Amino acid sequence: MTDFSKTRHMFDIPAGMIYLNGNSLGPMPKAAPKAINSFLMDEWRTELVRGWNTKNWFMQSNTLGDRLGRLMGAPAGSTVVGDTLSIRVFQAVAAALALAPDRRVILSDSGNFPTDLYMVEGLMGLRDVGYELRTPAPEDILDHITQEVATVMVTEVDYRSGRKHDMQAIIKKAHSVGATVVWDLAHSIGAIPVDVYGTDADFAVGCTYKFLNAGPGGPAFIYVAPRLLDKVEPVLSGWFAHEAPFAFDLNFRPMPGKIDRMRIGTPSIAAFSLLEAALDIWDGVDMLDLRSRSMELSQALIAGVEAKCPGLTLASPRDPEQRGSHVAFEFEHGYACMQALIAQGVIGDFRAPNIMRFGITPLFTSLEDIAHAVDILANILSAKTWQSPKFQNKALVT
Ligand SMILES: *Cc1c(COP(=O)(O)O)cnc(C)c1O
Repeated sequence: MTDFSKTRHMFDIPAGMIYLNGNSLGPMPKAAPKAINSFLMDEWRTELVRGWNTKNWFMQSNTLGDRLGRLMGAPAGSTVVGDTLSIRVFQAVAAALALAPDRRVILSDSGNFPTDLYMVEGLMGLRDVGYELRTPAPEDILDHITQEVATVMVTEVDYRSGRKHDMQAIIKKAHSVGATVVWDLAHSIGAIPVDVYGTDADFAVGCTYKFLNAGPGGPAFIYVAPRLLDKVEPVLSGWFAHEAPFAFDLNFRPMPGKIDRMRIGTPSIAAFSLLEAALDIWDGVDMLDLRSRSMELSQALIAGVEAKCPGLTLASPRDPEQRGSHVAFEFEHGYACMQALIAQGVIGDFRAPNIMRFGITPLFTSLEDIAHAVDILANILSAKTWQSPKFQNKALVT
């Protein structure tokens, strides 16, 4: 059994704060300052450019990809880290389109995170061949997987409601019509058990600063099914994807048959040190234990809010099997109410138009935290604290 009282003490969360936003930005591991300091003092300062070899900087995209891969069922050699999730979405969809040159439809859904859709719009604009992006309602997606579809690009867990797609069903249907699937696992990795290899996913992408706790701007990742590695097109053909980067050839030759062909250019090695410290915590975590604990905490939050917080309505699926690891409630004055909550040390967030969102993160959240947060929210509602003018102004980032 995973000892969540132990993992809780591996994070440095300010005293008195109940942090229910690990789905947006994970908290700092206690090991992070030492990790980044050691990178600065024992690697960059002393090794300088030699660090690419002596400290293995050049291969960290791969070694960290393999470590992170365990959390999503990816075999070694199928995942690399670096760059941002928006870039990885672009890269994966471009590669998926190249695998189906005669098809023109990219299928997503209307619940997807906007940057994923924006990146596809930008990609479509580069080639004037009549690409079309379809975004039906999430619950209708299976019916829209037809022979016209080149690739299905979906986020497994909806960033607002927490609704979870049936990954296996979507992949099966897509493969039966000759389409591929690009999974965005931003709200899945570190939140729920994922099995990219077992479900035969084609591509998967995600970030490391949410449930994985690698810090703001932590590197993104891309997974490519091993069966595709010899043919996948590295559209963002940077020198780190070259068969021989240090041959300095004038022409691009992708690294044959290896995930290295999805590397792009020089990644942030400083950020890698923070990712490594974050992954150390995950080493002792069983994903099935995490899932049952996440369900227990989520049910406690829902039951508490429904009993004590009139005016809020559940905006997530009631069935825990249909959810990821965050819970959303609708409330007309959701923005102001969340500001009042944050002012009292309970950190969640707000998503337009009226969603109050709470991340459920077993690594550092206890049942007592949930009970305490519910009581504070109940008080804010009964005293109408949220009506204060200071809670009405929208900040730049919500
Ligand atoms: C968080 C998130 C992103 C963010 O992309 P960045 O490039 O890291 O800013 C993209 N897609 C989804 C589904 C997300 O949840």
